[in-house]
Amino acid sequence: MLGTGTSHGVPVIGCACATCRSTDPRDRRLRPSIHLDVPDRASILVDTATDLRQQVLTHGIIRVDAVLFTHAHADHILGLDDMRSFNTLQGRPIPCYANREAWDAIRRTFFYVFDGLPRIGGGIPQLIPNQIDGPLTIGGIRIVPVPLLHGTLPILGFRFGNFSYLTDCNAIPGTSWPLIAGTEVLVVDALRDEPHETHFTIADALAVVERLVPRRAYFTHMTHDLPHAETNARLPQGVELAYDGLVLDIEVDAC
Ligand SMILES: [Zn+2]
Ligand SMILES: [Zn+2]
Ligand SMILES: [Zn+2]
Repeated sequence: MLGTGTSHGVPVIGCACATCRSTDPRDRRLRPSIHLDVPDRASILVDTATDLRQQVLTHGIIRVDAVLFTHAHADHILGLDDMRSFNTLQGRPIPCYANREAWDAIRRTFFYVFDGLPRIGGGIPQLIPNQIDGPLTIGGIRIVPVPLLHGTLPILGFRFGNFSYLTDCNAIPGTSWPLIAGTEVLVVDALRDEPHETHFTIADALAVVERLVPRRAYFTHMTHDLPHAETNARLPQGVELAYDGLVLDIEVDAC
């Protein structure tokens, strides 16, 4: 888990609340992203979060074979320009995958990357855009996109083998439940306790856990309203808040 915070990150700029002043490293949350590392097969980033540079430096990530985008909100894409470093290291363009809605927004936000016009001085990321229309295979790993609703915005979660990553959502459409059935390790959005128009609350996320019954569940995209230790203490067995740097062992589907 490279980042488990909401769009502002935690601590929040200028905030003096107990979570933002906490000395527990699990209360420091960068913007949401995960890294999937399948030894000898694939190194995949899910989203290029605002804090991408800091995240890859912290975790010594020196290779990215592909990027999957959940959606194009700022906290999930603003690190995209730093993909240049991986182009330099790898000497080739890097394939990126997103749904149509996300590509529309990414192409507007990063017009200079995708408009195909020559730019003096170069220095732009070399990325190959691919639209996700169904399950895909990267490095021999089967990846199933899971359509979710983030308010009215259709976004994607992703399933890799026994693991599902469902960030930034407040509804799982009926047709998506079969795609995540049998998930053993779940990461799901749980913004805070107070209702929100586009994110699951802790109670909503617990209802997802109750229906899906994974072996372990972790919450992500938390605001500073959820101090790590205190919140964990009130969660049921097998459910906890994720934190930046958390490593989950999963089993992918090789094909
Ligand atoms: Zn977000
Ligand atoms: Zn705060
Ligand atoms: Zn979002």
